[in-house]
Amino acid sequence: MSRDVQTAMGFESSWYYATAKDLHDYPALEDRISVDVCVIGAGYTGLSAALELAERGFSVVVLEAHRLGSGASGRNGGVLGMGQRQGQDVLEAWLGRDAARQLWEIGVEANALVRQRIARFDIDCDLKDGELHVAHRARYESEYWAYADLLADSYGYSACRKVSREEVADMLGNDTYYGGYVDGNAGHLHPLNLALGLGRACRLLGVHIFEHSAALGLQAGDRVEVRTARGRVEAQRVVVACNGYLDRLEPSLAAYQMPINNFVLATEPLGADRARQINRDDLAVVDSRFVVNYFHMTPDHRLIFGGGENYSPRFPRDLKSFVRRHMLAVYPDLADVVIDHAWGGTLAITLKRLPHFGRRGESVFWAQGYSGHGIAMGNMGGKLIAEAITGTTERFDLIARLPHRRFPGGRWLRWPALVAGMLYYAALDRI
Ligand SMILES: Cc1cc2nc3c(=O)[nH]c(=O)nc-3n(C[C@H](O)[C@H](O)[C@H](O)COP(=O)(O)OP(=O)(O)OC[C@H]3O[C@@H](n4cnc5c(N)ncnc54)[C@H](O)[C@@H]3O)c2cc1C
Repeated sequence: MSRDVQTAMGFESSWYYATAKDLHDYPALEDRISVDVCVIGAGYTGLSAALELAERGFSVVVLEAHRLGSGASGRNGGVLGMGQRQGQDVLEAWLGRDAARQLWEIGVEANALVRQRIARFDIDCDLKDGELHVAHRARYESEYWAYADLLADSYGYSACRKVSREEVADMLGNDTYYGGYVDGNAGHLHPLNLALGLGRACRLLGVHIFEHSAALGLQAGDRVEVRTARGRVEAQRVVVACNGYLDRLEPSLAAYQMPINNFVLATEPLGADRARQINRDDLAVVDSRFVVNYFHMTPDHRLIFGGGENYSPRFPRDLKSFVRRHMLAVYPDLADVVIDHAWGGTLAITLKRLPHFGRRGESVFWAQGYSGHGIAMGNMGGKLIAEAITGTTERFDLIARLPHRRFPGGRWLRWPALVAGMLYYAALDRI
């Protein structure tokens, strides 16, 4: 099964789709058009780039293979994180203090950018403040506390409050986890409604969005020509914003990312009292596993729980049971609860779990590989592409210069070794 078929699966089975606001049908491209910028992919990265460029006076077309938000942006766990996917301690060791600090600042701005857009475009996406990072092993507890201290002492970031194992037990209604910290500036939201709201903002700014219009190939010349099944876009610049759904469109980018599938469920409504028992403060919760568990409540008191992943083009057949196992490992008391929805999506990770940005000459730009941290950094990726296209390249180039390595072995050969590696680390979670 190709990723293309996979893309269409799962989107409409999510609780997000069932509660989507402002789902809008966009036409397919059936014409030949000429614009300043052609964006490929209508997730956060593509929509954000389109929005920023339209505001700066560019004519912009967005081509989307399926529906707007039908990639990871409309299906994810909804955790609006802070900073980068890698901790600042790791970034300092790899890149030095200066680059680590700049990446931290970009990550902080990314979080603020999402909040500003929600406010400015009046996007109704259930934004709630607060993310609890919890240790699933005793030794990680002190690492989390040390990290909160590092952010306060070296970055002047005082939004993290350390919490003990006892307090976590009170917050989550069980003793599954050790201590950790709450970041008051991170949080959770309805990811599809965020994407749909960005789509509406693009429309208002005059961006032309086409759904069911997969880019089939790019031909570079004086201007770049992008082909779809029934149309053509001729543009001065092209933005490739396909992330985990890139497939064969640009093999040179695909070499730097590995698409992985991650899975989420939504329970039936649990009622206000039970919701408070299992998540006292209505926080996003993210644990320390290699294959991370993440969860939060919805406004109608459902538990959204993300857990488990696989590395093949297929999703597990019985997704509800697949994710429920992970949920019961955290919340054994929820065995009686009905699972109303389960779905999956594909995201791109890089070897170093750092975003992979770049450009070919002055005409093709890309941002991908947010490695599970794409709500904030996808929005920011689009903004930094727009900055670079309009001549301010410093911040885009900072990320473009990060030391990435290709996944070894080429398109087919890289998989067995990589999958074995991922399964090995996932197995350590269970020991
Ligand atoms: C299950 C899951 C849970 C996650 N949880 C979180 C989380 O809690 N917090 C967080 O920050 N991040 C999370 N992520 C990651 C985050 O969702 C992604 O990093 C982010 O959405 C990437 O946005 P994007 O726009 O780059 O890519 P996507 O949203 O994947 O969009 C790419 C789009 O490109 C389109 N496309 C592909 N090929 C073509 C083509 N040839 N022509 C036209 N269109 C094409 C696709 O159809 C798709 O719509 C999660 C991801 C998944 C899958």
